Amino acid sequence: MQLYNTLTRRIDEIEPLQPPKVTVYTCGPTVYDYAHIGHWFNYVRMDMLIRALKASGLTPMWVMNITDVGHLVSDADEGEDKLEKGARREGKTAWEIAEFYTKDFLDGMQELNMLQPTHIVKATDHITEQIDLIKQLEAKDFTYVIDDGVYYDTSHFPGYAAFARLDLDEQQAGARVNFNPQKRNASDFALWKFSPGSVKRDMEWDSPWGKGFPGWHIECSAMSMHYLGPTLDIHTGGIDHIPTHHTNEIAQSEAATGKRFANYWLHSNHVLIDGEKVSKSQSNGIRLQDIIEKGIAPQAVRLHILESHYRNQSKFTWESLQAASNRLQDLKAMAALRWQPLPTVQDAATFSLEDVALEVTKFLVHDIDTPGALAFLSQVTTQMLSVLIENDMLDHFETMLSSIDELLGLQLLSVKDISGEQKQLIAERQAARDAQDWAKSDAIRDQLASQGVGLRDTPSGPIWFPLT
Ligand SMILES: [Zn+2]
Repeated sequence: MQLYNTLTRRIDEIEPLQPPKVTVYTCGPTVYDYAHIGHWFNYVRMDMLIRALKASGLTPMWVMNITDVGHLVSDADEGEDKLEKGARREGKTAWEIAEFYTKDFLDGMQELNMLQPTHIVKATDHITEQIDLIKQLEAKDFTYVIDDGVYYDTSHFPGYAAFARLDLDEQQAGARVNFNPQKRNASDFALWKFSPGSVKRDMEWDSPWGKGFPGWHIECSAMSMHYLGPTLDIHTGGIDHIPTHHTNEIAQSEAATGKRFANYWLHSNHVLIDGEKVSKSQSNGIRLQDIIEKGIAPQAVRLHILESHYRNQSKFTWESLQAASNRLQDLKAMAALRWQPLPTVQDAATFSLEDVALEVTKFLVHDIDTPGALAFLSQVTTQMLSVLIENDMLDHFETMLSSIDELLGLQLLSVKDISGEQKQLIAERQAARDAQDWAKSDAIRDQLASQGVGLRDTPSGPIWFPLT
């Protein structure tokens, strides 16, 4: 299994610490608003990482967090807590906001047929672990306390700038305008923020330093190390996490343990939506539900996401989504052939059905090349729709569909057979065609179409396919 590793800036062969187990931590959503399509690109790509690791023979232990406290509007530890802001916007408590949008996110994961992480963990369920980690950092002299919280002194961690290749002098100069004057360095970040005296927060906890709440970065270090140990194999997130969130995670984790935090870092690139970059902070993006309400299947969204490589900046437009929806129809038409095996077929495909999964796997284990896998699958589809399925190929064909589903999550086996009445209608239409009764033939075709069943006539007879 090979992946582009942000740590080394090259494609690395994945060598887990305890094979066949491979530990993966994914920075999950901040649940203060609906997830939008840009988020789903990121999370489906992480799902594809897990599928690729499995295809390579490894056994992933996958932890994803839910940020339900502590993520401030600004990455510079200024501004409001996003959850508290969401609560005021909707006249609810921060706890209610977190519960509502967590459920929305988990529902979306299911709609997009994402694999279930081994653990989905909430920041608010791990306050003790976060306080313990801050205590460790305090004991090693990496912290200082100012009016609004406990901060991490980045100048005490010599490799701070290395991961993101930051220019700290430039950062220091650029930060003057918005610089909390009590902070020792512009890059220092909050580990624990104190509750403001004037406002009652919905979410706050006691700590050795005073009542308050944890910073966003500390939760990922604390939960990752709690579930996966001091060094994990692969840490993932969006590319926008590199300069601040992941840099800070590395600084605080490695300062506490003296060990490398993660051996491989995988980052998903930005998505341009109708030409504009959408970041996590934008909440006006297109929701999955908006797409489903337009009659587009979640599998088409998934297919569209797989059409771009995770390292490339990709584009989302309604036109490209519609094109993906059409390609999904071709795949479903191929899947429907399992219900229509013929006694014999005229031609043979140029590939063997047993090799298809192997070929798709080759693309996935090479840096999750989903566009390559789909281009190959498109050739398979075109050929299968042309040569059709013979009775004695059926077992291999169904195994092939099952493998494609496991590798790419496209749910091709969910294409069901048509009813006995619909099969009867197809036979009646064929009889009408044989009798050259075109009016009746067309009427039956229309009737079937209204039931979601399409027909095409081949030298071997009519073949049906799902229209929805
Ligand atoms: Zn994180």
